[in-house]
Amino acid sequence: MDYPIVDLTNCDKEPIHILGKVQSHGFLVAADIASLQVQYISSNFERLAGISYEDLLNQPLQAVLDAIQEKDKAQSLLQVIRFSVQNGAENLNPVRLWIKDQLYNLVVHLSGKSFVLELEPTSSDIDIQLQNMVGSSLSKILEGASLQETLERAAQQIRELIGYDRVMIYKFWEDGHGEVVAEQRNEELEPFLGLHYPASDIPRQARELYKINLTRIIADVDATPADIIPASSLGSAQPLDLTNALTRAVSSIHIQYLKNMGVKASFSVSLLCDDALWGLIACHNYSPRFIDYKARQHARLIGQVLSSSIQYRSSQDDKEVNVSYRNAADEIIRRMQKDWSLVDALINQKNNLLKITGATSAALVFEGRIYRVGDAPEEEQIGRLVEWLQHNNKRIIYHTFNLPNAFQAAEAYKAKASGLLACAISKELGEYILFFKPEIVATVKWAGNPDKPVELDEKGQARLSPRRSFDIWLQEVTGTSERWSKAELNAVFKFREDLVHFINLKANEIRKLNEKLKEAYDELDAFSFTISHDLKTPIASVKNYAEIIMEDNPGLDEQGKHFLYRIMTCADKMDTLIKEVLGYSRVSRQQLHKQTIAMAPVIEEIRSELVAAYKPANLEFTVSGTPDIKGDRVMIVQIFTNLIGNAIKYSSKSDPSVVKVEGKEEGNQVIYSIADNGIGIDMNYGGHIFELFKRMDNVKEYEGSGVGLAIVKRIMEKHNARIWYESEPGTGTIFYLSFEKD
Ligand code: ADP
Repeated sequence: MDYPIVDLTNCDKEPIHILGKVQSHGFLVAADIASLQVQYISSNFERLAGISYEDLLNQPLQAVLDAIQEKDKAQSLLQVIRFSVQNGAENLNPVRLWIKDQLYNLVVHLSGKSFVLELEPTSSDIDIQLQNMVGSSLSKILEGASLQETLERAAQQIRELIGYDRVMIYKFWEDGHGEVVAEQRNEELEPFLGLHYPASDIPRQARELYKINLTRIIADVDATPADIIPASSLGSAQPLDLTNALTRAVSSIHIQYLKNMGVKASFSVSLLCDDALWGLIACHNYSPRFIDYKARQHARLIGQVLSSSIQYRSSQDDKEVNVSYRNAADEIIRRMQKDWSLVDALINQKNNLLKITGATSAALVFEGRIYRVGDAPEEEQIGRLVEWLQHNNKRIIYHTFNLPNAFQAAEAYKAKASGLLACAISKELGEYILFFKPEIVATVKWAGNPDKPVELDEKGQARLSPRRSFDIWLQEVTGTSERWSKAELNAVFKFREDLVHFINLKANEIRKLNEKLKEAYDELDAFSFTISHDLKTPIASVKNYAEIIMEDNPGLDEQGKHFLYRIMTCADKMDTLIKEVLGYSRVSRQQLHKQTIAMAPVIEEIRSELVAAYKPANLEFTVSGTPDIKGDRVMIVQIFTNLIGNAIKYSSKSDPSVVKVEGKEEGNQVIYSIADNGIGIDMNYGGHIFELFKRMDNVKEYEGSGVGLAIVKRIMEKHNARIWYESEPGTGTIFYLSFEKD
């Protein structure tokens, strides 16, 4: 959902790890690792040691230990501290110490060139057998049947462990804001479950610290923190870095925030998934409440187990969904490979695009066409969306759950497509697969108006201030869809790989087919050339023998003569056909000898030859414009002879028969047209008239073989030139020839 992001930059920059104070329940002393000289000490140390902190600064650490322990114990304590500093402090933490009838936990950690000792009382209010409790807590948590139940059980167990008034599981959303997703509380407290808190409530650097320190206690919101006093010898050196300190004081802003909420003590445990902060176990108490180190460590253990459980469960869920998406995608690819059709497999099958993700509609933009599946936006809207994607997005996979926010035109169809997952097949060609999710109008309950966490002071300037109002503030969120899950993104990403692979395969296959086709053509050419050539002799013999029979048998009856004539004319016809087929196959063998051809004399010569051959009754032949053509003279003559011949032939029954040859130059093209007013061609036959032996139904009364135009087309292709025609049956035909000038 689209949550307003509040950027409390001031809050974000507050250096909360070097505040220079400890909480009042803790005592801190830091010494230089090399010299063991005391460099920092908290002002409240006086209470513990009975000596002014000023007398301890710059002294050997031993002096501090002597002040809080008997001599021999102090000595061995120093050994322990040294050992723990050298061997990883964590292992020995905490060391238990009696100081003035009070048991303390001593915890050691490193900070730069110093090691830091912190003392905290063990006087926890929790009075139970922690060890046993944690074991049973963990098993109860892990018994949760669903993630939600696990979270609720965790809240319950933590509450029993630390006895706080309210324990919440607080989940961070991608934009940094949080939501209470599970809660256990005192009956009389109002519920916070389901409330959303702006990202600024837990600023970025605080979230970073939660990743380092997995627990954090603020034992008493109202207690005055103690200053950490640096040795004067340090001058203006960096203040002590308290990133890893347990007793680090709290920023005054956060204290005020808690006060505004009425909270007196707060405790949190971090929940991490894949090294990111997934959320917090956030605990509030309405009176001060300290929890000692051991109990906090146990809570931390529960947090770690809960973190693993969250991670395991979500990866498990992801896995299941992943498998179902993957299976659907694999089946589509299998079908594609079987049927060899991308569009059919993606769109028309029952197991189509929609099964790869949780989308409710989808579209495929491929080879200049838009295919829609389900209730997708209109074609025109998809066209514009793709244009926008092409120009505004470099990524192969783009996804949003708030499309109208990114692309305003989508506002018009947000009901169908507030969520978009776009996957480019080819960005350059504008080919995409688009998945859509519908709008989900949601009401978000904010704990206070998230737009107004900043207060203005008397001068009207923004003042660092925590929110005062936690009144529920409802926000209606529109134009957003359910989010795209990792499983969906993974499935689409993998699917794209397979798809692109398939498209490449197909392209290769087509290339191979083309080569095979060319080979087959060449073979066929050679074959028809040989056959035609070999047929010529026997045909000539047939005709010769028919003539001999005719001459040798003058007394043959009429029927016999008629049959012999038929044999002779058929043999002639066959001979012509063979010549033409030979001519056709010769075109592909012939070399082009290009030259500039002056067309006026060529056309005139063709005209006179054709007139001699056809002897048209009433022919009006006009020529206008005869620009030069660059081409093979013999072949160009063949083209014009065929076309002008056809024009005269198929208009011979018009009176007058009109044939117009016209040439002109257009840019880099020379275009000739040959028009007649003859019988015309049914345009539904389109390019078929250029196929070998194709003759239309209306030419039965005209001599012809159906080879002429096939030859013309071949010659034009050889010249990289184009031929097309316009015609109307009964009215006439115009053929166009377009040649490149150079
Ligand atoms: P044909 O030897 O039959 O003329 P072509 O290959 O030259 O063979 O032409 C193929 C067919 O195209 C013809 O049979 C005819 O049906 C049609 N055709 C070609 N030119 C014309 C034209 N000028 N007018 C009408 N029909 C034509």
